[in-house]
Amino acid sequence: MAYIICEPCQKCKYADCVDSCPVDCFYEDANMLYINPEECIDCDACARVCPVDAIYIDSEVPQKWQNYIAINAEFSYTEESRRSEAPQVSHGENWDPKQATAEPGHTYEALLGKFQEKSLSRS
Ligand code: SF4
Ligand code: SF4
Repeated sequence: MAYIICEPCQKCKYADCVDSCPVDCFYEDANMLYINPEECIDCDACARVCPVDAIYIDSEVPQKWQNYIAINAEFSYTEESRRSEAPQVSHGENWDPKQATAEPGHTYEALLGKFQEKSLSRS
């Protein structure tokens, strides 16, 4: 079992998830973050804080994002790509909440409000 990051993470990289992880098992490339399945201890902390519900335990990944199970498994996990507690690098600037509005209740305004609230609490 492992937790999987799915499509709504594309261009987020805001990384609420990183701060919540007790074992530092998040990694990144230019587009999104990934969870190393060999390091994740299935604690569920990250799934609860992700503002766009991008993270699921593998058995509950929605059908439309099943391909992200392989994407997370095949990512090249190196120390260079590890996202630790380093300062935010792209703090939502590229983040497009419209990408995550397909789910019921995920309106653009609701997600943007949630995102801005979290941004303010960090400043
Ligand atoms: S908080 Fe969610 S959307 Fe943002 S970087 Fe983490 S997994 Fe991706
Ligand atoms: S489930 Fe826990 S251990 Fe796994 S990535 Fe999320 S916060 Fe880290």
